[in-house]
Amino acid sequence: MTDRQFLTELAARYGTPLYAYDLAAVRHAATALRDDLPTGSRVYYSLKANPHPRVIEALRTEGCEAEVSSVGELEAARAAGHAADRVLYTGPGKSVAALRAALGAGVRTFSVESVTDRARLDAVAGDMGVVCACLVRLNGPAGSVGGSLRMTGGASPFGADVADTAALRSLLTPRDHTEPVGLHTYFATNVADEDGLLAEFDQAVRTSAAVCRDTGFVPRVLDLGGGFAAPQAVPGEPIRHPRLSAAVGSAVAAHFPGDEARGMRLAFESGRYLVAGAGTLVTEVLDVKEARGRTFVVLDAGVHTLGGMSGLGRLRAPDARPYRLGRAADDSPAAEPSPVSLVGPLCTPLDVLNRSADLGDARAGDLLAVPNVGAYGLTASLVGFLSHPLPVEVVHDGGTVTSVRRLGLGETHL
Ligand SMILES: *Cc1c(COP(=O)(O)O)cnc(C)c1O
Repeated sequence: MTDRQFLTELAARYGTPLYAYDLAAVRHAATALRDDLPTGSRVYYSLKANPHPRVIEALRTEGCEAEVSSVGELEAARAAGHAADRVLYTGPGKSVAALRAALGAGVRTFSVESVTDRARLDAVAGDMGVVCACLVRLNGPAGSVGGSLRMTGGASPFGADVADTAALRSLLTPRDHTEPVGLHTYFATNVADEDGLLAEFDQAVRTSAAVCRDTGFVPRVLDLGGGFAAPQAVPGEPIRHPRLSAAVGSAVAAHFPGDEARGMRLAFESGRYLVAGAGTLVTEVLDVKEARGRTFVVLDAGVHTLGGMSGLGRLRAPDARPYRLGRAADDSPAAEPSPVSLVGPLCTPLDVLNRSADLGDARAGDLLAVPNVGAYGLTASLVGFLSHPLPVEVVHDGGTVTSVRRLGLGETHL
């Protein structure tokens, strides 16, 4: 059976819209990334790209650790068999409740982003009578821009500004319940070419080494983040990184003293690269209509299904380039292919998956497949992203509470 036949059969059995995740592709991507990284590196899978427990589990069996940023993601990691004490908990806004839940579950490594974030972690860990390790996340200059450590990086909610030496000294000093063990950088996502990525890593190593020189800190872990690119919602293969391992190795050797470099474990993080290629979205054409010289192909998948963040109108729409899986039963002659607007079923003009897709011969009932949507697909919607609990909704009538609920993204196994 071909991939197309298989996807068509899944759609017939389970209906559309449907995401299919291929674990063989997940394992293939994990092997490719691991082969491109320096030997002995730790690889974290960033769950926000796709928190499906079976996807996480496939990566765990490939040796990828879990990087989580919410209690929901931590639960998904544990459901996939990760031991909490190996999980890395990151993110710029960690509440007391989240820290308490994470420490209670056994998480012992956190990336801290500011003096306040670290103080809160230390206080909660102290309350609970535990000691945990932390990586200090840095906000330094971007590699593609170049420049020295003394240039401040961009304004960003992420990381501690490397220009603020007082804050860095404080963050890198052990406290009773939080021991700094390393540095964490994550400068960019989806860096499309190897040269750009090497420049980012080179800058990350320089920045980290300069912080260590300035503060006397000796890291055991250097988490260089990631940014490994993959095609999204269009056909194609992720690039390989044949020069990466040697380049990072020589940057570390050039900027850290030899004994420190030997005692230091490198870590990398990836969401997109590991899972993008594994996902395909199958969607049905519900209608094809002409409106003032433009053709609209209305799908049962919209921005609530794919590219949810673009529903705000501030991020680019996904520009999905689906291919057709099969013809609808009614096989009337097809029109010439010409660019059409691919839209979803939502009642907003922002529900657009592509303003110019080459699917002029699409007809109602056709099945389309959007490739490379294993990362930042279904859960990259505004409420699903990062698996945070949804807000509580309280209904009251002049001060008397009549209903309290919290919507959930519960699962139903089919
Ligand atoms: C989102 C995120 C990643 C993963 O990014 P990708 O581009 O999907 O690889 C890694 N590290 C941190 C800290 C992140 O926030």
